[in-house]
Formats: sequence, C-alpha cells, structure tokens
Amino acid sequence: MSLSELGFKDQPFDHLYLLPIGAELPVGLSSKSLLNQLNSTFKKLMTVLSTDELQLIAKLTQLPIGVFPIAVVADQIAYPYLIQPDYFLQKRTKQGLHLTPKTTHFDDKNLAKLSPNQFDSYCAEQLSRYAFAGKLVSLTKKQWKERAQVAYTQHPFIQLASNKRLIIEAVERLNRSMLLGVLNPPEDVAFWRHRVEIVLRPYRSLPPDARYHACNHAITLTISKNYPSFQVNCEACAMNYDYFPMEDRVALQQEVPFEQAVKRIATIERQFDALAEGTPKVITALQKLHTIQQWFPHNSLDENQGPVHRLVASISAAEFPDTPVEPSLLSLQHVKLSTIDSLRFVQPYLATTQEELQQLLENERAEELSTDNQDASNEVVYFSTKGYTLYENEVDVIEEYLSRDEGMTFHLLIQVLKGEATSKVRSLNLHLSPIFGLLRPWPKKLIPQAIKSFW
Ligand SMILES: [Zn+2]
Repeated sequence: MSLSELGFKDQPFDHLYLLPIGAELPVGLSSKSLLNQLNSTFKKLMTVLSTDELQLIAKLTQLPIGVFPIAVVADQIAYPYLIQPDYFLQKRTKQGLHLTPKTTHFDDKNLAKLSPNQFDSYCAEQLSRYAFAGKLVSLTKKQWKERAQVAYTQHPFIQLASNKRLIIEAVERLNRSMLLGVLNPPEDVAFWRHRVEIVLRPYRSLPPDARYHACNHAITLTISKNYPSFQVNCEACAMNYDYFPMEDRVALQQEVPFEQAVKRIATIERQFDALAEGTPKVITALQKLHTIQQWFPHNSLDENQGPVHRLVASISAAEFPDTPVEPSLLSLQHVKLSTIDSLRFVQPYLATTQEELQQLLENERAEELSTDNQDASNEVVYFSTKGYTLYENEVDVIEEYLSRDEGMTFHLLIQVLKGEATSKVRSLNLHLSPIFGLLRPWPKKLIPQAIKSFW
C-alpha cells in the first residue's frame, strides 16, 4: 500500500500522519492548535520510546517510523478523537476498509476536553496500545477471536464446570425437587440448601450458553484500556471477559478461587449422598415405587377405587432413573414424583409381589362394584362436628396404627392427622405413616375434638 493511498501527499507535520475522513467537526472546536499540540506531544513521547516500540507501531500502521496517525476532517483540521489501534488490525484483512467516524474506529475520549496533563498521559497510553497491537499483527482478528474462545473454554473454572456439569445440573434439579423435603435430618437438608446457594453462585453467574464452554455467538474484540489484553464482548450473552493474547489466557469478569471451587463442588455432592444414605426408608420406598411402575406401566387407574389403585395411579406419571434408585445425587436427580404422597401410599406394600398387587387391584375393583350396587351411604359416621365427619373405618386405621406406635403424643397426632411435615414429624418418619394427612381437609382446631372422640 502506498502512502498516497493512505493519506495526503503532503504531510506538514514531522511526527503526525494526517488521514482524511469525511466527517463534520463537532461545533465550537478550533483545531489548528490541536494538531500543533499533538505534534509536539508525540514528538516528546516518541523520543523516549525504544526502537523496538517504534518499529511495532510502524508495523501496525504501515506508516513510516516515528509518525502517529491522526484523522483530519478538512485541511489541517483535526478530528478530536484518536484512531483505535484495532482499526489498523482490521484494515490488514479488509483492504477496502476506510476510516469513518464510526465509533469502533475511534476512541471515545475527546482530546479538546483534556487538561494538558491528561492530554500527555492519554497520548502516552495510546502509544503503548499501538505498540501492543503491533505485536498482534501476525494473526488476523478472526484468528484472535478463535484463540480467545479456545482460551475461554480452557479457563480452569470453565474446565471445572465442564467436568462437573453432571453434578451441577443434578444439584440444580434436586434443589427444586420435593424429595428434599423427606430427607433427614431436616436441619442438614436446610444446611445443604444454604451451601448450594453459595457454591453454585459462580456457575449461575455465567450465561447459560457460556457456562461449560465458550458460546457460539458472534463476539467482538477490542484492545482493552488495560492492555495488554483484548476485551471480548458477546452481545447475545451480555458478557465481557479479557483475553491476554501474549499469554493466550482469559480472565473472567469475576474470578473464582479455584482450589476452593474444586473442594466446594465435591463437598455438596458428598453431603447430599450422606443425606440420601441416612434416609434408607425413603430409598426403599422409591425403589419399590419404581418397581411397581414397571409392573403396571401406562396405567390410568381410578384412584378412588382403593388404596392400591391410588398408589398405582399416583406414580403413573412419575419418573425414575434407568437403573435402580440409589442413595446418591446422580441417581436421585432422575426421580420425579407427581406427589410426595406416593412414598406414604407404598408403605403397606413394600414386600408385596406383582401377583399379590394384581390380586389386590382386582379385589378393589370387585369391592367397588358391589358397593355401587348397595346403598352408597353405608359408611358409618363415628363423630361429626361443624360439617366435618370422622368415619368408623378411619378410626379403625388410626387405632390400628396407634396400637403399634406407643410413642405418639396427642400434640404430635394432631400434626400427623393434619398432614404437617414438621421437623419433628419427619425426624420420626411419621410423614410416611398411613395416617399422615388423613384429616387434611379439617380445620386444625377441630382435630383435637375428633381425637378425643376415640382416645
Ligand atoms: Zn454468547
């Protein structure tokens, strides 16, 4: 490229190279003196630069050594913004690229508004950015973008996220799962949830498309104010990060202490597994539910026909892992119950075989048929108050249960019948008992009267 293609044939300043652009000058700026000021400033600054630095600047701008490019709007009237070094990097690959007042071609600092001190230090800073960009000319901007994205994917924290992706996603899923409410002890569950918020924060702060590797969007690269780096921006992800081309390294906006992150993610997995292992009753119930669902797949049973119908119907849309349920984070993440009551419904049938369950289903259907033929109101009212009724068969279930549970107190029984899964109730596994929630529709203050009617 010849010099005449780049600018004017006559260059009146010994340390500036004037490049014309078709732009209007912002109102009220006289700029003859600005060019003189720039010339003397760059003269002063360039005398202290090393030959290497001067050569790098010339390599970038493709101008003679010792001159600095300045845009002018008309004969000797300076455009009051300095050209971004990025423009010259781009120009190497886009031959037809002309300098325009586009913001990407110019820095945003208005020269006319700087104090003499600011003016000098700003120009010195620009020279350093130019020298830095001179080191980058060996690759095209497209190649630098590719390198930045590879370096992003190789960032230690992104690597950690990628390696732990299964765990992170399992934790997110289980954190929203109703299963957490039945694991014991409740205070450890609460602690685990609290830890999850802290441990997952840095992963959650990354955009979803850039959480485990660099995103595939179009990114922009600008030489940052705190060179020697590029600022990488992805508009789609609303994300910035720094790429250091000389070290081929990325710095995230929020760097995470790496060793701590490694330990923390391992700890929340271990803590969850301990919770699951500490609640074998729930695991046994889930394993049985999984088996029953396989015995009676796609079954749309009428849940009102009896307890086995209710049990099978309750898991018709439940999801389980491909392999038997295990007390671990990775296994339990695949469990999705439609209702947590299934854990309670299955309790009487933990040892029941497929043939026996099939028989029980048939019995319930037969019973329903015969009941339909009889008077519908054959249920015996045991106790009634303010429109709420306790039937004799319900009292039978409660009494049968109480005969086996000697530790039950009056106060606790109210909570269990009302279906309140308090810490105490859960620590005694009462939320899995057959009487849990039996009087759920009742107002709590009426339940003591109902209990007193038989206790
Ligand atoms: Zn993106």
